Amino acid sequence: SAVDSRVPAVAGNELNVPLVTGESVGYANLDHGASAPCLDSVRTAVDQLLPWYASVHRGAGFASQVCTRVYEGARDVLRDFVGARRTDSVVFTRNTTDALNLLAGALPRGTSVVVFDTEHHAALLPWTGPRVRRIEAPATPADAVAALDAALAECPEGPRLAVITGASNVTGELWPVAELARVARRRGARTVLDAAQLAPHRPVRIAELDIDYVAISGHKLYAPFGAGALIGRADWLNAADPYLAGGGATRKVNERAVSWNTGEERHEAGSPNTVGVHALAKACETLSVNWVNVVEHEEALLRRLRAGLREVPGLRELCLFDADRERVGVVSFSIDGQDPGLIAAALSAEHGIGVRDGLFCAHLATKRLLSRAGSDAERAVRVSIGLGTTAEHVDRLVNALHELVAEGPAWRYELVDGRWTP
Ligand code: PMP
Repeated sequence: SAVDSRVPAVAGNELNVPLVTGESVGYANLDHGASAPCLDSVRTAVDQLLPWYASVHRGAGFASQVCTRVYEGARDVLRDFVGARRTDSVVFTRNTTDALNLLAGALPRGTSVVVFDTEHHAALLPWTGPRVRRIEAPATPADAVAALDAALAECPEGPRLAVITGASNVTGELWPVAELARVARRRGARTVLDAAQLAPHRPVRIAELDIDYVAISGHKLYAPFGAGALIGRADWLNAADPYLAGGGATRKVNERAVSWNTGEERHEAGSPNTVGVHALAKACETLSVNWVNVVEHEEALLRRLRAGLREVPGLRELCLFDADRERVGVVSFSIDGQDPGLIAAALSAEHGIGVRDGLFCAHLATKRLLSRAGSDAERAVRVSIGLGTTAEHVDRLVNALHELVAEGPAWRYELVDGRWTP
């Protein structure tokens, strides 16, 4: 049950949690898809920076110079991490949601946007106006490519943007990113890749795939909350209004007018999250030199997980494309006759296992996939694995589900404020 020593260590493997049975067990965090635990290397990097905590860009002191260098240096690390062009901007944001909203506000007037309606709300909702076209969930990767091609062909003249996702946060399935990017380019559209769920599990290469923008979140990449990035072409970003108005974004201010900086500063007004950015960069560096082991570790555990789940009576796994599609370590399911909220509560209270239940900020996708799977449940349970996961966690989950299906939750639960509570 030991943590795989070939992969970078995460904090929290030793966490013990109390159960309603009175015992205490090692916590099995099977919710990496929501937020991943912090890497040990990241914790060390943060500890090393904290004594140097000082203002970025604004101070003349030595500590300020150190922080400024750390902050600015992180842009190169992130550019490398996503395989971006040397000329791409790296704008630091709070997370993926923030990054995609920033881009939505920076589109040239009259840009047509095409987006699949199965996207996470962060990628679905920032685009508004009459030139936004939502296309229905495709049944196969080839259908997705054809649907995007057809939708872009019908866009009016002018700038176009296709929104694509690397890996689904509901099913873990990989989207055909290279093919989607190719048809978008052929139709004269730019592309933005929501890599929130892909980047923690697979290398992302935007220049190689000819993708224009990518958005990522630090807290899914084994760094703490509060730092993410939008990386991509500088021209639209430099021409757009600043994302926030304030200090740092300005070049010159007088009584009558403001002139704004170009470059990343234009969209980063206010004192930045230096520690978060440093942590994010360290996480990217650690993953970059460990990909082979990271992918192998996750794939072995994912095979074990899906094989185990297949044996649970009445369990229906959600799939966007099909069960054989390549995927990252995210699996959502319903179990016939069982309430998903109750399953999640019992896994936590009786087995020390953290999962998520609900619609996962992708309401259209999850509801449609439940119905495609023949389930009458209105919500699903999601299990997501990563570097903090062990084979024992997976086996514990599968055994717990068998037990829950056979016997029902061992303890009495009631709904309190919408949550099942023992
Ligand atoms: N896109 C996908 C595919 C996601 O999984 C998530 C997070 N669940 C987001 C976007 C939004 O990320 P954040 O909450 O960090 O902004």
